[in-house]
Amino acid sequence: MTSANLLDFDLDGLADFCEKLGEKRFRATQLYRWIHQRGVSNFDDMTDIAKSFREKLRTSAHIKGLKVLSRHTSADGTIKWLFDMGAGDAIEAVYIPEDDRATLCISSQAGCAVGCRFCSTGHQGFSRNLTTAEIIGQLWYVEHLLRAELQSDDRKADERVISNVVMMGMGEPLQNYTNLIPALKTMLSDHAYGLSRRRVTVSTSGVVPMIERLAQDCPVSLAVSIHAANDKLRTSLVPINQKYPLKELIAACQAYLPYAPRDFLTIEYCMLDGVNDQPEHARALAQMLNALPCKINLIPFNPFPASGLKRSAPEVVKKFAQLLTGAGYITTIRKTRGDDIDAACGQLAGEVQDRTDAVTRMQDRRTIMMKESNE
Ligand code: SAH
Ligand code: SF4
Repeated sequence: MTSANLLDFDLDGLADFCEKLGEKRFRATQLYRWIHQRGVSNFDDMTDIAKSFREKLRTSAHIKGLKVLSRHTSADGTIKWLFDMGAGDAIEAVYIPEDDRATLCISSQAGCAVGCRFCSTGHQGFSRNLTTAEIIGQLWYVEHLLRAELQSDDRKADERVISNVVMMGMGEPLQNYTNLIPALKTMLSDHAYGLSRRRVTVSTSGVVPMIERLAQDCPVSLAVSIHAANDKLRTSLVPINQKYPLKELIAACQAYLPYAPRDFLTIEYCMLDGVNDQPEHARALAQMLNALPCKINLIPFNPFPASGLKRSAPEVVKKFAQLLTGAGYITTIRKTRGDDIDAACGQLAGEVQDRTDAVTRMQDRRTIMMKESNE
């Protein structure tokens, strides 16, 4: 029997595994709590688990987290970790503390196959899907590390640090569906991180059939990256639009709503100078959304040279937001967080593969993790 990484399982999967070892399914709950609530990776430390069970676990399983390559802390408190995925691949996770919450932005793939024109992860191409262990491993690592680091007289050792998770790092989560779902279930489980569905967000470029499946399997908050209101422009920015055009995507959003943890979705729109940021684009967007219950997030583009694109001017973004607000949509403009440490979705991950270019990349691929400016 090969050794299983227990971070690969949600509670059901862990119960199946326990059964295979000849143990009762309910034993999984205790084990799952040790792993995710206590952050313990050594079976010998799981003191209230029967010795005979621990013995079996030692020979058939392990709990293996991610290998950290680097950690950077921004002046605003944002922290970014780069993790080694082997074979020259790396991914990142970004911790964003705010007054009333702390969000962890995590990755779902090394690279991305969608290839959006304005996204440097997309420009890197696709390397591989992350396993469930690698997806949840980002939360497991950061949550328990920060619990230990932030522990103080008025903060207990087991007090939760991360209150929100957004799947907005590298990769298209809905193109890694099979591995994503057990990770989401672990985020939500009361025996693990106990996050409410509203505090876990999947962001997608619009993989329509998987939006439908997510509604059935694990309906968390959904953010849809729209970026354009007509198919021609959207296909040129987000190539997956060719396969799942706007009409189908908006219909999928409508169909998701009854399952969504809140009565609205988030629409993301990256503001590209002269490409999709004019008043007529705002009007077309308002019309195309057709009163879809949603909150629109305008994201000022974070430039990198290979894109050939520029960030919209602040007054252009403001005007765009006003037009949408006027049309009845709640609209927010994202504020940059962690720009001094390049805390961008996938921005540094190529550094490991191509060190020669790292300095240029560091200079050019600025910013990202952002904060809603008026939330
Ligand atoms: N693949 C998913 C989630 C990861 S990208 C998706 O596309 O939704 C997370 C968000 O970052 C998306 O809304 C994406 O459009 C945005 N983004 C990607 N590159 C960007 C850039 N260079 N500047 C600003 N936002 C960017
Ligand atoms: Fe992939 Fe999202 Fe980047 Fe598009 S924006 S290339 S879907 S990570």
